Amino acid sequence: MRAEIIAVGTELLLGQIVNTNAQYLSQGLAELGIDVYYQTVVGDNMTRIRQAIETARSRADLLVFTGGLGPTQDDLTRDALAADLGLGIGLHEPTLRKIEEMFAGRGAALIESNRKQAMLIDGAQPLRNDTGLAIGNALSVNGTHYLLLPGPPREMKPMFDNDASDWLRKLMGKADVLHSVMLKFAGIGESALEELLIDLIREQTDPTIAPYAKEGEVCVRVSTKAGSGEEAARRLEPTLQAIRARTERYLYAEEDIPLEAAVIRLLTRRRQTVTLAESCTGGMIATALTTVPGSADAFLGGVVSYSNGVKHKQLGVPMELLEGPGAPGAVSEETAAAMAEGMRSAADSDFAVSVTGVAGPAESEGKPVGLVYVGLAEKGKPAKVEKLQLSGDREGIRIRATKRALYFLWL
Ligand code: ATP
Ligand code: MG
Repeated sequence: MRAEIIAVGTELLLGQIVNTNAQYLSQGLAELGIDVYYQTVVGDNMTRIRQAIETARSRADLLVFTGGLGPTQDDLTRDALAADLGLGIGLHEPTLRKIEEMFAGRGAALIESNRKQAMLIDGAQPLRNDTGLAIGNALSVNGTHYLLLPGPPREMKPMFDNDASDWLRKLMGKADVLHSVMLKFAGIGESALEELLIDLIREQTDPTIAPYAKEGEVCVRVSTKAGSGEEAARRLEPTLQAIRARTERYLYAEEDIPLEAAVIRLLTRRRQTVTLAESCTGGMIATALTTVPGSADAFLGGVVSYSNGVKHKQLGVPMELLEGPGAPGAVSEETAAAMAEGMRSAADSDFAVSVTGVAGPAESEGKPVGLVYVGLAEKGKPAKVEKLQLSGDREGIRIRATKRALYFLWL
């Protein structure tokens, strides 16, 4: 089945809002195994909406609309489609009663225009709206299928995930749906990862292998279309094994979780604890770890040791390392090691991670922007230090340093 998404709304064309609904719907339709061939945006204008419908019908058999189901004058989607199909529009009584009750509950009289939100194109199936008023419409006419969804994402998403998806699944019968496994990687960039997998990616037909980077992480989605989960798992396994064998060192999860969650999970399972000594990341690693529910079992706390004074007084980094002629300086292998060891022994944790570096925009101690040392102290072992030369602006360097520090700990 080929689909076209039609987002209706002049605000979209004016650039006042971003068309996030199209992204959500594209992802959702792909997961159902429906190919989206086009995304269209059209303003709140009867003539142009009808043109968009005609064009879409010539190249797709499923038209998914979002927006323009509301009560106001500029909400035209339902009327435009009904006119195009030569169908009438009727009131859906249960929805009207729900709207009336809601108004009565507020002690307000029903505004006439709100009745519009209970309107259904003749022959359409109503799609429940649990988070708003406007009812969705689903109908099939002459081999083309139409879905009308509201514009507000908080109404559109649950309607799509529930009633609309059920309707689509029925429409497709037992057709194969897309099953996928998300592989998550750290310590490697998108292009380097692609390089490792390039022949697999080139040869792919089924399962498909799609690498992409998102918010400082690299993921690979491996997908296949199959009728059942077991069948899909059997088909995915050889490809997953081939990828695992080549990327072992970098693969940290086979589900869509961030690195910090994998780290907390691993430490919790091993009953180990970690503390932090952060300089240029200023608490970002602590923030990342504490975003994970249950992190208290593994993460004890840390010190944001931004100044040399705090590195010395709180972490016991010797002043000779930090300042004076011939000292390696705050941004150095020696200091990173001393920070991690100082933190670990002060808190008596199993591990301590330290970060010290030059986030920019200006160089420091005569050292270049992007030079970062990550230290790792472990009970009973000498500290290890990794030297990094990171690229990007101040924020980018801090984010990358955070990810690398988590990766160092994960390894
Ligand atoms: P309402 O009952 O709120 O009028 P509606 O179904 O008529 O809902 P619109 O009037 O088109 O929808 O849009 C209402 C709001 O929903 C917009 O102001 C915007 O905030 C959000 N919205 C609409 N379309 C999109 C879209 N494609 N992507 C993201 N947000 C959207
Ligand atoms: Mg509206």
